[in-house]
Amino acid sequence: MINEKMRELGAKRSVIRELFEYGKKRKAEVGEDNVYDFSLGNPSVPAPKEVNESLVKLLKEEDSVLLHGYTSAQGDASVRAAIADYINETQGAGVNADCLYMTVGAAAALTCSLTAVASAGEEVIVLAPYFPEYKVFIERTGAAVREVLCDTETFQPDIPAIEAAINEKTAAIIINSPNNPTGAVFTEESIKALTALLKRKEEEYGKTIFLIADEPYRELVFDGVKVPYLTNYYDDTLVCYSYSKSLSLPGERIGYVLVCPRMKDFTATYQAICGAGRALGFVCAPSMLQKLLPAVLGKTSDIAVYDTNRRLLLSELTKYGYTVVKPDGAFYLFVKALEPDANAFCERAKKFDLLLVPSDSFGCAGFVRIAYCVKTEQIERALPAFLALAESYK
Ligand code: PLP
Repeated sequence: MINEKMRELGAKRSVIRELFEYGKKRKAEVGEDNVYDFSLGNPSVPAPKEVNESLVKLLKEEDSVLLHGYTSAQGDASVRAAIADYINETQGAGVNADCLYMTVGAAAALTCSLTAVASAGEEVIVLAPYFPEYKVFIERTGAAVREVLCDTETFQPDIPAIEAAINEKTAAIIINSPNNPTGAVFTEESIKALTALLKRKEEEYGKTIFLIADEPYRELVFDGVKVPYLTNYYDDTLVCYSYSKSLSLPGERIGYVLVCPRMKDFTATYQAICGAGRALGFVCAPSMLQKLLPAVLGKTSDIAVYDTNRRLLLSELTKYGYTVVKPDGAFYLFVKALEPDANAFCERAKKFDLLLVPSDSFGCAGFVRIAYCVKTEQIERALPAFLALAESYK
């Protein structure tokens, strides 16, 4: 019998994918340059040159059977050791190869983590606005989603609201910084307050509350902003990392889960991650991509274009009368819709061939997301459309 829930998920495209498909159709009608598609978070800058160079070297020099063969289920041991060394050098995190489980991107890291630590009858807290797939990943475990809205001025976590949401059923909380869709980076002050709260609640309820740090945008930060490394603040942390955005490799599907070695139930938790990977069929992440990583650790795509785009949009949209949340990271701008209904606002934007994502699917009404990981020329060409859209409300 077909699983109805899965059928529904497959039949219904996400709002973002829907817009992207609409954009493709519209471009065929009016020309590529006349549609300003800001829907998808697909990196627009190439991978660092070392990526292709190292791949070519692997293909030329490595034993082909080994290069393309299965690795251990949790990933190649020497690759994991190299990543652990890099994390220790850059974050002083005191981790080792046996804390890491290689995955196909952050999506698999999240599904493995959630499957490992959340079950039916429990709840997972997500901070709205949030990456919409969290809901899909959480509900698949049988646990329920508990949304907690961030402070809608700063988009930092609202600690009293999180405190009110935590209860004896809370299995985990997911945080995502730098954030999709707001671009906010959670400050050290926010992280200290959040982790102090979680420690207090763990004691009160006598159970582990896992902190799942979803970090595909860790390296995409501007103006020297620092992203606190969560295991340094809270032992019951699982870090879900991906090279999709930092190395512009979203289609290659490579990332990992890191289990903090200082957590109370480290062995059982790591075993549960391995078990989840097995149950979900996520064993042995792509071998060649794993073996690429030691050569490119510490490399990042050139994010100067994203910074240029961010500055341009911030200054111009503000001039046109938009209220914009200043992003410190990722490549998204969160803008207040010019009417209460963000969906209606996005429909009107479409008339100007501006494709913006309404914030409702992120669990927060009244905003739109602009993915500015595009060529700067696209933004320059789109500015008159943003102005005309603003003027249509005057
Ligand atoms: N988490 C967030 C917040 C994202 O924005 C994305 C992708 O856009 C993912 C996870 C999934 O990343 P990956 O492509 O590495 O699976």
